[in-house]
Amino acid sequence: MKLNFRILFLTLLLASSLFASQKVYKLNLATTWGPTLSPLFDAAKNMAVLAEELSNGRLQIKVDAANKHKSPLGILDMVKGGQYDLGHTASYYWKGKDIATLPFTSMPFGLTAPEQYAWFYYAGGLELMQKVYAKHKVLSFPGGSTGVQMGGWFKKEIKSLDDLKGLKMRIPGFAGEIMAKLGVQVTNIAPGELYTALDRNSIDALEWVGPSMDIKMGFHKIAPYYYTGWHEPASEMQFLVNKRTFDKLPKDLQKILITAMRLSAYDMYVQNYDMNATAWQEMKKEYPNIQVKTFSKEIMDAMKKANQELRDEMSKKSPELKEVLDHQDAYMKKIREWSKMSDYLYLKDNI
Ligand code: CA
Repeated sequence: MKLNFRILFLTLLLASSLFASQKVYKLNLATTWGPTLSPLFDAAKNMAVLAEELSNGRLQIKVDAANKHKSPLGILDMVKGGQYDLGHTASYYWKGKDIATLPFTSMPFGLTAPEQYAWFYYAGGLELMQKVYAKHKVLSFPGGSTGVQMGGWFKKEIKSLDDLKGLKMRIPGFAGEIMAKLGVQVTNIAPGELYTALDRNSIDALEWVGPSMDIKMGFHKIAPYYYTGWHEPASEMQFLVNKRTFDKLPKDLQKILITAMRLSAYDMYVQNYDMNATAWQEMKKEYPNIQVKTFSKEIMDAMKKANQELRDEMSKKSPELKEVLDHQDAYMKKIREWSKMSDYLYLKDNI
């Protein structure tokens, strides 16, 4: 009798632990992107699928595109406030709320994607990002890199600084502030109206992303000069996680979520690399007159000077931003030497 009781007790214990381990956690995620914006939206979707598969269905994440929640630039607030458990967006959108979040996307003349991933995962970048986001009660993780973004589409060739004076260009954010310092008339136009604005000469130039995402916009059909990048060398998307939601997850699901985010982030970088190569071949074939150009040294030097001045001004206002920028700068000094010895010199001699 005593033995039976013990067996019954152990059976119940086992059943209850099995039941607990089968509890399904249902989370929701809001993206800044529309449902067809590849590869950005794909990164969020892939993460959700991976998390569900790795957890054997115990972690289910419903992904809402911007047309569902209607607040593409409100992701931080929604995750902070708990309307959404997670977000997929970009850190530099919060520059106006918290300037220290800016460098976690990409900085002009900053780290390249492999350098930045090394910084995030192995050199303290991720810890620094968590520290900055702690005051918002959210966790932040890399969410996929576009790699080098192109400098933009120009209707006329830009040969000197004078050619930039009075030029009407759509280039948002921090890069826009740099261009404004060089005399560019920076305008902000909704993405859906960009093609028409460029076609009707309301603007003379614009920047978007790179071939992978520019091809659908059609800019190459009306602006033949495609300038190489300087302002977003490694734009990293961002997963945001409500801290309370994360803390309530069992340890194994926390680990699965982190793994799914990390894998889908890296996968977006690779997917986009391939999409860029494919889209560029298509563009070039259809419009052989497209000319790839690099800004002159005179222009680059002026951009670098304006960049430094703006960074210094912002750093004076925010010691926290200064801490992040100094940390990135110190790491760049170290890793750039290796990038030069490895990828740069290899490519230079094999192109
Ligand atoms: Ca861009």
